[in-house]
Amino acid sequence: MRNDVPTAAVPAPPPVSLSVDLLFESSPDCAKVLDLDGKLQSMNQNGRCVMEIDDFNNVCGLAWPDLWPEEARPKLHDALEKARRGELGHFVAFCPTAKGTPKWWDVRVTPIHDRDGGLQGFLSVSRDVTALQQLIRERQRTEMFSEGQKRALEQAVAGSALGEVLNTLVNTAEAYVEGAMRASVLLLDRSGRYLQTGAAPSLPQAYNNAIDGLQIGPAAGSCGTAAFLKKPVFVHDIGTDPLWEAFRELAEVHDLKSCWSHPILSSKGSVLGTFAFYYQEPRHPTELETQAMQVLVHTAALVLERHQEAQERSMAEQALDDARMRLEATLAAGEVATWIYDIRGNQVTGDRNFKELFGIPAGQPTEDHDALCARTIHPEDLERVHAAVRQAIENKEAFEATYRLLTKDGSYRHVIARGKVQYSDEGTPLVLPGVLLDITTQKQAEEEIRSYAVRLAEINHRKTEFLATLAHELRNPLAPIRNGLEVLRLAGSNAATAERVHGMMSRQVNHMVHLIDDLLDIARIDSGKIELRMDRLDLKPIIASAIEASMPLIEAGRHQFEVEVSDQALIVNADATRLAQVLSNLLTNAAKYTPERGQIRLVARREEDEVVICVVDTGIGIPPQALGSIFEMFAQVKHGLGRAQGGLGIGLSLVSRLLQMHGGSVSASSPGEGHGSTFTVRLPLVANQQAPNAFESVPGTERRQQDRRSVRILVVDDNQDAAESLAALLRARHHIVEVAHEGQQALRLLQAHDPHLVFLDIGMPVMDGYEVASRIRRMPDRGHVRLVALTGWGAEHDRANSKKAGFDEHLTKPASLETVERLIASLPLETRRA
Ligand code: ADP
Repeated sequence: MRNDVPTAAVPAPPPVSLSVDLLFESSPDCAKVLDLDGKLQSMNQNGRCVMEIDDFNNVCGLAWPDLWPEEARPKLHDALEKARRGELGHFVAFCPTAKGTPKWWDVRVTPIHDRDGGLQGFLSVSRDVTALQQLIRERQRTEMFSEGQKRALEQAVAGSALGEVLNTLVNTAEAYVEGAMRASVLLLDRSGRYLQTGAAPSLPQAYNNAIDGLQIGPAAGSCGTAAFLKKPVFVHDIGTDPLWEAFRELAEVHDLKSCWSHPILSSKGSVLGTFAFYYQEPRHPTELETQAMQVLVHTAALVLERHQEAQERSMAEQALDDARMRLEATLAAGEVATWIYDIRGNQVTGDRNFKELFGIPAGQPTEDHDALCARTIHPEDLERVHAAVRQAIENKEAFEATYRLLTKDGSYRHVIARGKVQYSDEGTPLVLPGVLLDITTQKQAEEEIRSYAVRLAEINHRKTEFLATLAHELRNPLAPIRNGLEVLRLAGSNAATAERVHGMMSRQVNHMVHLIDDLLDIARIDSGKIELRMDRLDLKPIIASAIEASMPLIEAGRHQFEVEVSDQALIVNADATRLAQVLSNLLTNAAKYTPERGQIRLVARREEDEVVICVVDTGIGIPPQALGSIFEMFAQVKHGLGRAQGGLGIGLSLVSRLLQMHGGSVSASSPGEGHGSTFTVRLPLVANQQAPNAFESVPGTERRQQDRRSVRILVVDDNQDAAESLAALLRARHHIVEVAHEGQQALRLLQAHDPHLVFLDIGMPVMDGYEVASRIRRMPDRGHVRLVALTGWGAEHDRANSKKAGFDEHLTKPASLETVERLIASLPLETRRA
């Protein structure tokens, strides 16, 4: 039997019994005998078969460990060492057969002793455990797989970053196929059109960068297409598949040959992203791989959906937080109070602001609703508020009411309350929660605007009334003037009639001029353009002048007139003309507002450093309520009989303003209607009451001297009537007058006539007054001529313009005879001789 043992070039095998030999051969495993050095001595037939060894001679005598893969060798040496010590050497290791079939072996090594116990060699029995090993590995892979899946879910629940969770899933996928493929997760962005990298830890970064932002579509690689079609896309060979047309090169550069992508779908079926698997060779996934990867895709869906929900929740929470903070801020600012009215219990609870407003002690939780309303809501508003509450409850409408609320300090505040009733499922009204806003400031502003509008309306009304009065007052004198003209035409040469009509017409014209002068003066004062020519003056001649001007009206009323002027000197700093205007205005009013045959008195006396001038009449008087406003513009007292005398209501306003400009004042008093009035003027007296030297500037004082003198005058006006009437007036005063109706004619007459004085109209066609004046001023031998502009325009800039053109004076039409005479009187004496 020993000879049967396969031995070639080896020492004689130890004697073995027949049964041992049989046993050796009959073993289903691979049984080998090794010498003391571990070299192969023999192998049973079954062993050669499972190891796929055709010819044992090829391996006989070789060191047994050398036949194993490098990594298994330490285990073999270990086992041999154990056997050498008399123990059992045991290990499991991988080793392909002679023909390369991969196999796992369970190997046991035992020592072989001779009868004396000496070590002869080793017996090694290797059992093929490949199938078992695969089972074990499969189980390990499955465990590892579910471990990975579980970890991802745990991470998701624990709130780990999404990238981290997806990385775990991707790693699990790659580990499951033992690195045979690379995986990635792409996420669909909010627009639902673009994919962004979610996790791709083992794909080249350059590839990930290129894919990031990929637009989904019907031919957008595996992922873009899968997301677009909402179904898995398998691309067996990227090199030829049309879906990869646009990305082929990119894939090839990174050695990606085959790709399989799953859409990740939410529970509602919307696409969340894609889970892709790449191979480095064209191939299809195995059935097992497909199943495993589907599990991961599903897990990714859970994770992503959860993440999305969490994001939405946190946004909602943030919004809620913001709203809460805003509400708290509003409440803290005290702008809004909140309350709840328990309808069934008739109780109100409110926040701090509410209690503050309603004066409820902070510690008191609730208050009786009806009692609270009755105590705090303005009695006029109470019923309306109750009705609004009832209506809101019954009609299921929003509640809103604006009312006045009595506060702790006893004042009322305007508030607006708004709320909405809540009902039980059966429709029973339960509570009415709401807010309360303090709108007092807003109300006040509204009130101001309203009253402002009523001020504006009043002003408008007065203006309209004034314009009507003005039109009326200007028309009144026109009727007698027109009649007068007619009478003059009919009267022919009847001198007596002409004289009478002439007197009437000149009175009416004077009246009109007076009205217009007043208006112009007011306008000048308003625009700050009036200038006073202040002088140190004795008041007495001014009083005399005012009386003279008012006498015609006083006489027309047949009033009894008395004057009491103190003997003392009354020296003031004043504009003589304006002061005379003030006093004559008061005297005229006294004459106007006193029925015929009344009494008028003017008293002037010194009171300390003031002069007090009173104009007293026994006329219609002024009702006490009108006394305060009588000096306002357009103020006219409405008497039962209507206006006794015409007027514009600006005379007294002018009086008061002119006096103010003089540093003085005017006041009115009256015991009442029908009992006469007293107007009192006060003016400061100058400290030195020495009489001034001359009174030349006082109107009327020089008239007598000048009467006998005559000068050469040129009147230029394109309005023939105006020119001729002025010329006639001047001729009647013995002056030598020539008339021109246009500029050239005027220049010619200037040479021929050599006037001392020229009255020159400004607004003329062809050559205007400015031009004529400038030309005259350019004549070398006409430097002495006095140029007077006579125009309808009396504004400041008109005066400035005429001055610039070379005029010496500027008069507004119609110039009074008095003014004209004063002007002539002011010419240097030598020029006054004709
Ligand atoms: P006018 O006389 O043009 O109406 P005034 O400004 O001079 O305007 O006067 C304003 C109003 O004051 C007059 O309309 C008149 O009602 C009242 N008034 C002025 N003077 C007297 C007075 N002496 N007696 C009674 N009322 C007067």
